[in-house]
Amino acid sequence: MNGQMMQQPLLISSFIVHAERHHAEREIVSRRVEGDIHRTTYKELAARSRRMAKALAALGVGLSDRVATLAWNGYRHMELYYAVSGSGAVLHTINPRLHPDQIVYIADHAEDQVLFFDMTFLPLIQAVARRTRTVRHFVAMTDRAHMPSAEVAATIPNLLCYEELMAAQDDRYAWPSFDENTASSLCYTSGTTGNPKGVLYSHRSTVLHAYAAALPDSLNCSERDVILPVVPMFHVNAWSLPYVACMTGAKLVYPGAGLDGKSLYELFESEGVTFSAGVPTVWQGLLAYVEANHLKFSTMKRTVIGGSACPPAMIRAFGEKFGVNVLHAWGMTEMSPLGTACTLKAKHLALTQEERYAVMAKQGRAVYGVDMKIVDDQGAEMPWGSETSGDLYVRGPWIISGYFKNEGGDPLVDGWFPTGDVARIDADGYVQITDRSKDVIKSGGEWIGSIDLENIAMAHPAVAMAACIAAKHPKWDERPLLVVVKKPGAELTRDELLAFFEGKIAKWWTPDDVIFVDAIPLGATGKMQKNKLRDQFKDYHLPTA
Ligand code: AMP
Repeated sequence: MNGQMMQQPLLISSFIVHAERHHAEREIVSRRVEGDIHRTTYKELAARSRRMAKALAALGVGLSDRVATLAWNGYRHMELYYAVSGSGAVLHTINPRLHPDQIVYIADHAEDQVLFFDMTFLPLIQAVARRTRTVRHFVAMTDRAHMPSAEVAATIPNLLCYEELMAAQDDRYAWPSFDENTASSLCYTSGTTGNPKGVLYSHRSTVLHAYAAALPDSLNCSERDVILPVVPMFHVNAWSLPYVACMTGAKLVYPGAGLDGKSLYELFESEGVTFSAGVPTVWQGLLAYVEANHLKFSTMKRTVIGGSACPPAMIRAFGEKFGVNVLHAWGMTEMSPLGTACTLKAKHLALTQEERYAVMAKQGRAVYGVDMKIVDDQGAEMPWGSETSGDLYVRGPWIISGYFKNEGGDPLVDGWFPTGDVARIDADGYVQITDRSKDVIKSGGEWIGSIDLENIAMAHPAVAMAACIAAKHPKWDERPLLVVVKKPGAELTRDELLAFFEGKIAKWWTPDDVIFVDAIPLGATGKMQKNKLRDQFKDYHLPTA
């Protein structure tokens, strides 16, 4: 016997319909690449999204056609989130920090029909426009007054102006209804080796993920929040915040290209931001600026930090110096991205602050909808609550079942997706990521978790950034080598830093050596590129060898 409830497909357009009806006057504020601060409302954004959906149809974009963006976080990008996916086409957000060759590869692989871009990326468009094979139109996300000169425009085939496309349409458009399993958006994984692979989300997976992301023990968003997503809209749909904001009616503040500490801090204060989200490297810049200028946050209460391990020292600095609660979260492009979030359970409330910090440093427990397990080398499930790490496997309705165009074959093992992360899970279900499987250091057959060592180094006041990699060792095969960037003007020697590890870990985990460098290479999403460091130091001779 079936239940007698309405059958309504879960569609992305329902978010903007809800926001327009229930939160019409709530604001969306954007720092534009034109240089000014732009203000709009959900009412206006919904109307413009409908007009843009009509403009896409006029350009010949149909169901499941791919439409690409190369853009910062801003209201026009958000209009495209709804115009493209809402009309049944697929939004392909491209990471502008990728190499032009990779951008050409993924635009061709995705068979993008139209490519929208912020004016910042004009030189990039000039470099790729004549090389892409399927893009029929390039659209500059600006008005006529800010369009490139005729001379520059002539270098880009079929260049159009966003505001002119918009002006040519009215907003009389009804969002179409279709199967909720229809593809909605496409993101390519950063892929440190080989070509990037496409992750194709559906309307259903996106809506279910947004519900889970907004929950109190996930991102805990409400109408009363003012959300500033620092995490880019070109990286896993800005962790769902452009959907969660419509779903809850929160005010949105988009930072555009201004991701330095000063620009972010100004927006936090002028717009009354209560909640933000980003990778640890961005918060480092913000913390450095705020500390150097003896500033305080007057409205900011919480920030989610993920994308790579958040050093415990950062969680403590936000909490103790600024009263900002850090929510450590873990996920990946293949998971839409949210897998775990670290909120305390009732049993933790009686703990001391020190004990709570120890819990908060973990990546957190599974959000409802995500099932997880850790397995050993033979694929056998390992128990929770032990100190041993295993390969982390996940499954759930917003987790990938196969890459776009079946690239790389079937990624699943008995219905589970192997994340490539190594983790331990405690008795309460809190996950602690100890490494990427390819970054694990194997010393004498035993694993050493590089993230644990980096977290300790990052707690030293003179350290700005630390990466721990495996160096070759004649006896132990591999031993940890610590690569460190010092804070500007700070003094620190190798021996002082190694002494700092004493008592904090098993002695045999202590790195064998420290190398001070000016910078650690970062990838397109702000993560340390340890593969590059491993290449750079592949012939490094350890003093212990
Ligand atoms: P991406 O798909 O580019 O977002 O990268 C996903 C990967 O980033 C994960 O598989 C992890 O290796 C890493 N990652 C994400 N969040 C965290 C976190 N909180 N702690 C440690 N690693 C993380």
